Amino acid sequence: MADLKVKTLNGGEAIINAEAIEGLRAKISGEVMQTGVEGYEDVRTIWNAMIDHKPGIIIQCRGNNDVITAVNFAHDNELLTSVKGAGHNIAGNAVCEGGLMIDLSLMKSVRVDPETKRAYVEPGATLGDVDKETQKFGLAVPTGINSTTGISGLALGGGFGWLTRKYGMTVDNLVSADVITADGNLLHASEKENSELFWAIRGGGGNFGVVTMFEFALNQLGPEVLSGLFVFPFKHAKEIINKYMEYVNGLTEDLTVWVVLRKAPPLPFLPEDVHGKEVVIMAFLYAGEVSEGERVIDPIRGFAEMHGEHVGPNPFTGWQQAFDPLLTPGSRNYWKSHNFSELSEGVIDVIIEFAGKLPKPQCEIFIASVEGKAKRVAYDAMAYANRETNFFLNVHGRWEDEKDDDHVIFWARDFFEKSAPYASGSVYVNFMSGDETDRVRQAYGPNYERLVKAKNKYDPKNLFRMNQNIKPTI
Ligand SMILES: Cc1cc2nc3c(=O)[nH]c(=O)nc-3n(C[C@H](O)[C@H](O)[C@H](O)COP(=O)(O)OP(=O)(O)OC[C@H]3O[C@@H](n4cnc5c(N)ncnc54)[C@H](O)[C@@H]3O)c2cc1C
Repeated sequence: MADLKVKTLNGGEAIINAEAIEGLRAKISGEVMQTGVEGYEDVRTIWNAMIDHKPGIIIQCRGNNDVITAVNFAHDNELLTSVKGAGHNIAGNAVCEGGLMIDLSLMKSVRVDPETKRAYVEPGATLGDVDKETQKFGLAVPTGINSTTGISGLALGGGFGWLTRKYGMTVDNLVSADVITADGNLLHASEKENSELFWAIRGGGGNFGVVTMFEFALNQLGPEVLSGLFVFPFKHAKEIINKYMEYVNGLTEDLTVWVVLRKAPPLPFLPEDVHGKEVVIMAFLYAGEVSEGERVIDPIRGFAEMHGEHVGPNPFTGWQQAFDPLLTPGSRNYWKSHNFSELSEGVIDVIIEFAGKLPKPQCEIFIASVEGKAKRVAYDAMAYANRETNFFLNVHGRWEDEKDDDHVIFWARDFFEKSAPYASGSVYVNFMSGDETDRVRQAYGPNYERLVKAKNKYDPKNLFRMNQNIKPTI
């Protein structure tokens, strides 16, 4: 094998000679890959096709020993380093250009203890992997809405989904974690052990080390839940969003209802002439008794005349995959996001204006109401700080062809700017795109300074900088 040039932390290049690579390979149970070898292309490819980075070297880990070896190798050679869970993050920080990528996708076991209601999850697991194992016992951890998303990035940034109003953010359910810090030490972090590290990783992303195991507390759910979609004509959008705002105010925490404005997919329950037309979709999950859910959701039918609905009891694992066909990997994606305490008339007008000029059929505007249990946790209980948020508002630019980049990105940024005056100023770190390094402080608000202190302690050289980076100050 030839020598390798690998990018360093200071922007230069280290020459890693063939002997050193062989030495590394001998210590690793997983794979050591460089460009041209089988598997390299698959491993470096992530969900967002906008990201086309080529790491100088990839270490595909199979366990703690591999991760420790990889971190020490990165540290000793001062290599630019990225960490990949399932590679779903929109910003694409999982893959570095020219540096060392630590890939965790082979470490994906999920072990559930139904007696203690705990799940022990490895970092390469997807939400689908977690749901499959937990639901076997009628248990669940609140995560996100697309089953191919990685548990790692999602949990480390906060994590919310259909169960958040009832059971809190994903991080609210984290009991402990194994973390390999920049000095190659394996630390167990919980409220009792390494508690400051535990505080920091619950929202602070990949800034503090590589998490190799998550212990989650599990909640009772289903396995059958009432869930579904109501689809309304776009012409009634304003009236529907206003009614939605009234409806979710004081709503039972068992119910979560989100709004999506987009062009209608060819869903079988919609008349064919609606396919491809702008619509307002109300998607919901009721996390209590199905019969009670039927009663609670009924008022939604009165929001306006409907194009159609698809509502019924479904296995929770099925509902968790319901949006996967719209969110497949391989498309180009550019997202922007704001948090809101309320959606005022002004922002509703902006939403309707931009949903009326979607630049591509897969683009959408998405409103998620959170509140509930997530909101009752103190903002400084952990790094995740957005507890005042009642709504996340996302603009999802999604398209296929590179030649449309400017057009779609302009639309998304324009929406973002016009909706900004109505927003609360904070942002959910997991929805930030790669060009938003100036918003990291906003994402953490009053918790930012404490995060800097933790960064100074656990990663003073900023080895873990391929993330929404909290910069050390020493
Ligand atoms: C289609 C889609 C739907 C989404 N839906 C939701 C949703 O419903 N709710 C929600 O909360 N979020 C949602 N998200 C955002 C999601 O939480 C983030 O994209 C998350 O980062 C994905 O995690 P990952 O492990 O797949 O990411 P990766 O891209 O693999 O990792 C993201 C970053 O996390 C860090 N990281 C990853 N693994 C580790 C580890 N083990 N140790 C240390 N650092 C690590 C690294 O810095 C890395 O750059 C969605 C994203 C997409 C694209």
